Amino acid sequence: MVLFALLSRRLYLNFLVGYLLLGLVVAALGVYVLGYLATLGREVDQLLHEDMPLYLETGRCLQLARAEESLAKKSLVTRDPAFFGRADQVGQNLESALTTLASQLPDGEWRAAMSAAQEDHRALWERAAAPPRLTASSGEALTTTFTGVADRLNAVRDGLQERMEARLQESDRTVRRAFHIGLCGWVMVMGMGGVFAYWTARRVTGPLHELHTATRRWAQGELNYQVGVERDDEIGALARSANQMARQLAELDALKEEFLANCSHELKTPLTSLREANALMLEGAAGPTSEGQRKLLELSRHELDRMQRRTAQILDLSRIRAGQMGYHFQTVSVDDLLHRSLQGTHLLATRQGIAIDPPRFPGIAVRGDEERLLQVFTNLISNAVKYNRPGGRVWFEGERFAGGANGWVEISVCDTGIGIPEGEQERIFRRFERGTVDASLPGTGLGLAIARLIVEDHGGTLQVRATPSQGSRFVVRIPAATAEVAHA
Ligand code: ADP
Repeated sequence: MVLFALLSRRLYLNFLVGYLLLGLVVAALGVYVLGYLATLGREVDQLLHEDMPLYLETGRCLQLARAEESLAKKSLVTRDPAFFGRADQVGQNLESALTTLASQLPDGEWRAAMSAAQEDHRALWERAAAPPRLTASSGEALTTTFTGVADRLNAVRDGLQERMEARLQESDRTVRRAFHIGLCGWVMVMGMGGVFAYWTARRVTGPLHELHTATRRWAQGELNYQVGVERDDEIGALARSANQMARQLAELDALKEEFLANCSHELKTPLTSLREANALMLEGAAGPTSEGQRKLLELSRHELDRMQRRTAQILDLSRIRAGQMGYHFQTVSVDDLLHRSLQGTHLLATRQGIAIDPPRFPGIAVRGDEERLLQVFTNLISNAVKYNRPGGRVWFEGERFAGGANGWVEISVCDTGIGIPEGEQERIFRRFERGTVDASLPGTGLGLAIARLIVEDHGGTLQVRATPSQGSRFVVRIPAATAEVAHA
């Protein structure tokens, strides 16, 4: 059960196996290099504790032999018992040194040479007598004996030196081999680590990036977007859960929209009746009204108008989103379109002291549904007036671009109003989203959402560029008409 749970967590296992493998390679490499270091240690140990002491001891024996030869010769020449005594003393020391050396040298040629040297040296003295005496009676005989002893000692010393040199060369080779293996291993571990890191980074960051994109699109209201990560591990599970969450959110959103559309639909007829009754009463059809009654009737007409506009917007929105708007595409003159859009706004602009430059785009035409485009520009112009300041200005800019079947037309609605902070410029196109504006200003937060959907249904785009306190520019880009119309 535990194993099954572990195996289903594939990413966890991938990491575990990957790091274990790397760890194993590093450990194997460490053991290998340690083996070489142990060999090196043994070689250095032999050199320091076997060869070197024997070499030094051989050297000491040679010195003792030379000193003894010199003292013995002096005692023969001078017959001075002091020299003789000292030669005897040095001779005894040499003999015990030769005995030690012979016992420590490896069995074979060297040990035999030492034993022979010991024999020769022993034969030089007769120590059974008291006082002991030298058997050699002349300097020449002494020289012959000591030369023989020295030659043997030198031969052993040279042999030891050669052995030490051979060991040093072997240690050098061991160090080089350990270095090369360490270097190759390091390169291999770095390579493996690099490949593993790249692989894991790609395996993890790719889907995370995809998830990040998805969450951004969901946040922008694109709830039908699905994360395209088909994997059988933890990230795959996360992607599936996230997709499911988005589907549920989309369902809830659709339910909410349906509910709002139903409510708006249900409200439409009673609101129309109420609006008509209100108009009739204001016209005096139900009898004369006092000044106070008229004021109340006008107030309720204002609120009824607002509610009608709001329900109409909600219905438009749900129709557009359901693809049921039913557009009638035709050639639309931009000049005519903007002049018509201005009709409802002029009064408000004059009341607020805002100047609107009349649009002049003779000959520029777009392909679209005139009534829906009218709705778009009416909304943009009324916003440009609503979010402006007394003494402000509203103007239009238009341009044609090549591209697509007949090129593009870009129409900008510009104002010197309050502008929009950078962080809000994309958000204001979401449904029911209002920027940080004076709450007393009337609005539903639906106008721009509808406008963008309409423009997108025309195959175009609606963007904003704005600077806080300086003004805004809403840019509508839509396909140009096949035939251009002359300014009416
Ligand atoms: P409403 O105007 O009903 O609030 P809209 O969808 O038309 O809804 O606009 C959404 C928000 O965008 C507004 O609440 C406002 O904050 C901001 N906005 C729109 N047009 C402008 C503009 N010309 N200048 C500054 N802010 C604007």
